[in-house]
Amino acid sequence: MERSSVAKSSPFIDGLELWVKVALLSIWLVIGSGALLLALSTPSELSLLHKLLRPLQAHVDSDRALYSPLAYFFLLSLVFILERRIPAREQALFTVGFAQDTLWYVGTIVFRVAFLGYYALLLEDIYQQHFSFLTLDSISSWGASSRFVVALLAADFLRWLSHLIRHKVPLFWKFHAVHHSQSEMNLFTDARVHPVDRMISATLRFIPFLMLGNDLPVILGWAIFETIYPKFYHANVRLNFGLLRYILVTPQSHRVHHARGASYRDKNFGFTLSIWDRVFGTHYQDDFDYPATGVTDPDYPSEKVAGPRFLAVTFARQLLYPFQQLFRAG
Ligand SMILES: [Zn+2]
Ligand SMILES: [Zn+2]
Repeated sequence: MERSSVAKSSPFIDGLELWVKVALLSIWLVIGSGALLLALSTPSELSLLHKLLRPLQAHVDSDRALYSPLAYFFLLSLVFILERRIPAREQALFTVGFAQDTLWYVGTIVFRVAFLGYYALLLEDIYQQHFSFLTLDSISSWGASSRFVVALLAADFLRWLSHLIRHKVPLFWKFHAVHHSQSEMNLFTDARVHPVDRMISATLRFIPFLMLGNDLPVILGWAIFETIYPKFYHANVRLNFGLLRYILVTPQSHRVHHARGASYRDKNFGFTLSIWDRVFGTHYQDDFDYPATGVTDPDYPSEKVAGPRFLAVTFARQLLYPFQQLFRAG
């Protein structure tokens, strides 16, 4: 099997003079100190932030972790080092694909704050009015740690299942294909998800999850991990975690999920845990393969073709792409 070549270092950083490197490091340390101060602040000192995030906090608990600056600081620092030392594929640190994904990241935050929290409320309302008889009341009598483990496993399994469905149903795939379009994988690629894909995913996962009852405990540490970890495994990093890969999704296994070749199609759907793919036979057999990623459709509006000056236009075209596909198919 053909293996990809490994870059020795990044041209972006090595081209810089020493004083620029020192200046960048100083700025980075100031940002890190700021993140630490925020993390140590009490919630009352961050009332505006909490007010803004209230629609999310009511029903999408893990989104509290979205804005954990300290976790982001460590993630960015770690990925920065690893992408230079052990890149999965030869690639500059700041590519046009990276710039496009940061735009998706901003768009995703706007979409979540403005809409997704309210959509979750609507789904819960529908559930309580029409499907509440499905709720498994017996779970509420269990201990907190058992309920947490059930919540963790159930949420991860439902994410796996919803991901599989979004690949297998042609209508859903048209929207999910946008997530697969990145050929320069980076930590913000997890934000490259079409809003309709996000809504389909939320609908598929949320209603079954409500059956477990409303009082499932959410542990903030885990919520932060679940928010940060998908960013980490989208990074251009050559890591498969040794024996841990039998439990966790890894940068290697998720890269295979994004691979272009037909032999990789519909493999490794896991979100945090890799166990579902191993149990249900959707795990790709080679845990040492780091293939090229992206979609093969020549009509896809790629930022690599349009160039860095047209990020906003390309973003709009990528949002429209699934609808154009639907129109053509119809
Ligand atoms: Zn997928
Ligand atoms: Zn992905």
